[in-house]
This record gives sequence, C-alpha cells and structure tokens, in this order.
Amino acid sequence: MNKVLSADWVLPIEGAPIENGAVAIEDGRIVAVGTADELGEGTRYADSAIMPGFVNAHSHLEYAVYGGFGDGLADFAKWVSVHIQRKAQIGWDEYVDIARLGAASCLASGVTTVGDCSYSGAAAVACAELGLRANVYLEVFGADVSRALEGFARTRDRVDDSFSDRVRPGVSPHAPYSVSLELYEACAELGLPLATHISESPAEIEYLTTGRGAWGAYADLLVPPPCATGTRMLADRELLGPNVIAAHCVVLEDDEIETLASTGTGVAHCPRSNGALGCGVAPLTELREAGARIGVGTDSPASAPSFDFFEELRSVVLTARARAQRPDVLSAADALELGTIGSARALGLDAEVGTLAPGKRADLAVVSLGGSPYLPWDDPATAVIFGGSPERVVATFVDGEARYEKGGFEWQELTAAAHSARRAMLAPPEAVALAEAAGPSLRAR
Ligand SMILES: [Zn+2]
Repeated sequence: MNKVLSADWVLPIEGAPIENGAVAIEDGRIVAVGTADELGEGTRYADSAIMPGFVNAHSHLEYAVYGGFGDGLADFAKWVSVHIQRKAQIGWDEYVDIARLGAASCLASGVTTVGDCSYSGAAAVACAELGLRANVYLEVFGADVSRALEGFARTRDRVDDSFSDRVRPGVSPHAPYSVSLELYEACAELGLPLATHISESPAEIEYLTTGRGAWGAYADLLVPPPCATGTRMLADRELLGPNVIAAHCVVLEDDEIETLASTGTGVAHCPRSNGALGCGVAPLTELREAGARIGVGTDSPASAPSFDFFEELRSVVLTARARAQRPDVLSAADALELGTIGSARALGLDAEVGTLAPGKRADLAVVSLGGSPYLPWDDPATAVIFGGSPERVVATFVDGEARYEKGGFEWQELTAAAHSARRAMLAPPEAVALAEAAGPSLRAR
C-alpha cells in the first residue's frame, strides 16, 4: 500500500534538499521523492526534516551498558582485564538484554542500519527482534584456526534463526594483535562480509611492527607481532577489499591511506572512541581525498560515551576541522553524507540504503528541530547535524515500517533488563566466586 510522509525538508543526500518535501513508500521501498505538492502531504511532520536513516558502520550493541568501564586507564592490560572480568559475570540472556537496549538506542538515534561486531551473537537476535537492519560480524580471536572457527560455527548456529535478508551474517577477526594471519586467511575463505579493527593506536603500531612499546609487556595476551602494520599485513596477503570494513584506521602512513582507497576497503571512522581512548584523530580528510570508502561508527559505550549518532557526526566535523585547522575542510552536509551513504558504501549496502531514491529500501528518520535556535531554516543539513539529538528524533522507519516512534518504545522494560545485567557485571568478583562455589542456583539471575 502506498504511504506518503512529508515535512519542511526532505534530505535525499543524493541531490539538493527539497523544501516542503515528501517521500512515497510502497512495499517497504521508496517509490518517489519530490515535493508535497507533487506527492501529497500524507503524514505531515511539522518543523521536521526527513532523511535517510543513519548507517552506523561500527558498533558493538552488546556493550550498550559498558559506559565508564575502565575509563581513563592508560594501561591497556588493565583496561582489557576490567572488561574481561565484568563480561565473565553475565551469561547469554544478559547479552541479549544489553544488545536489545543497544539496538533500541540506535533506532532512537535515527539509525536504521548497523555494522555490528558481536562477541556472543546477541546483536543478531536483538536486531531481528527490533527491526534494525544489520550486518552482524561474529567475532573470532586467537592464533588457533580450528578452535576459532569451531567457536564461530557454534555462535552462528545459536543465532542462525535471526539471520535474514535484513540481518546478515559476517565474520570479525578482531584485530592483528589478537588474531593470527592464518586465522584472518581462514575467515576470508568463509566468503562472508568481514569486519576488523586496524591501526587504532600508536601503541598497537609499535607492538605490531617491533614487538615493543607499551604493549610489549603483554605479549602473552597477544598474538606474536607480524612485523608489519595491520593494513600492510592484510594488503600483502590480498585480504583487503570491498568485502572488508576496517574500524578506526587512525595511525596511517600515506601508502596505507592509498592502499585502503585502492583496494576499496571500507573504513569506519569512530572519532569519539578514538578520542576517549587517547588514540588520536584519524586522517579523515586525507582518506576522503584518496577516495576511500569511508563511513562513521559509534563503536560502543565500552569506549565512546553512547550510541548517539548526532554526537558522533558532530565529532566528525569538529575533529576534522581541528586537525586541519580550517573550518571549510568538512561541512555538516559532508558529515551527513558520511553517516548515511558513506557508511552504506563502507558496509557494501549502498545499492539498498543510504540515500532517499526510488527503488531503495524505505529506511528513514524524521528529525524535528521545533523549538530549537535552528528554526526558521534555510540549511537543513547544518540544522540536523548541529541541532539534532536522539530527543529530536520523531520516528525511525526500516523497510517502511515505524520501528521507533517518540514516546512509543518499551524503554522502561528494555532499560530495566539491561541495567540488571550491568548490576551483575558490577558485583564484586569475590561475591560471584562465592556464589559459584555455593552452587549454580545462586549464580542464576
Ligand atoms: Zn570496535
């Protein structure tokens, strides 16, 4: 059935903003984009802009309640051990509870697609339930190929029912310091979309290239250094390409920027995570100039403060301008493009989502700037990026269906379940050990 949505502005991304714009939807796809005079008013949103849903190119939904864990710790091993120890205090049901809150937070922030790296696979369940489009990259770690692939197969089997045309499986060999080259090769042979973390920090680069530096002391936690950066190691074995998305890419030499661009590798730019962990500011402008397929990701509250995609896009603008010491190096419209079609390209989903165009999936967000200092408006992209927030998202549609409407979500239920999981993680480890010694019944939630 044909449905029309209209607003003060429609931001197709491909093409100029349309004043008094409208989008017509049929069977989950966009059939027309134009003015409300041409297409009719349908459902009218006052003081609002309709835009493609944001595409979050790098997330970890199952870390939605990890906010503040290990914040400010300079010692990498201590930071990792805080996360490992707390993660060990919860089980499958809690992972799903947390991932549901993560998926809901994304929808509430106008996100309609995520590229999610999932340790347990819970993200697939959450995305399927809440109607969020996703590539869910199941994580693998270590040097031992058969052990890692067995773990991957187990996780995939557990969540296989959640995969569909909308929620697609992928594999995520975690990073070149936690995954051997042999395991990267085995993952590539699976023929699935692949996500990884590369060139995140100077300490990572120093360890990978020399085995020394701040991480040299933790060699027993890591795979042996390959004596090359992740980008060069993967490029050498022809493991980069359009099927791959690499998160972070902060510490890059010119030849690595060129390699990422020429191989068509997706790059997920995560400026808040990179800032919070003290990793640096990625060379976004250089990557764009080289023609890299670059998008934007929030990472997760394990490192960035939230899944708030507006905050992430503001950080994209601010860090790019601060790094270049120029205000004209990246516009709000550029950031909006990076967070929609840019991310869709990086995830290999640009034929389906990322712009408002006939034939594409009807994945869109409605953002109200009512009551803000950005109205009346002549520049909706700047208003949405600088004035937008999850509180201003009126509705989020995936496949033409409202998956989030302001005030209509089961927030209390979702947050209560996720907070109970966080409480379990914060319990002192001694209490958990005692409970385990007393028998499994006490451990049950
Ligand atoms: Zn990550």
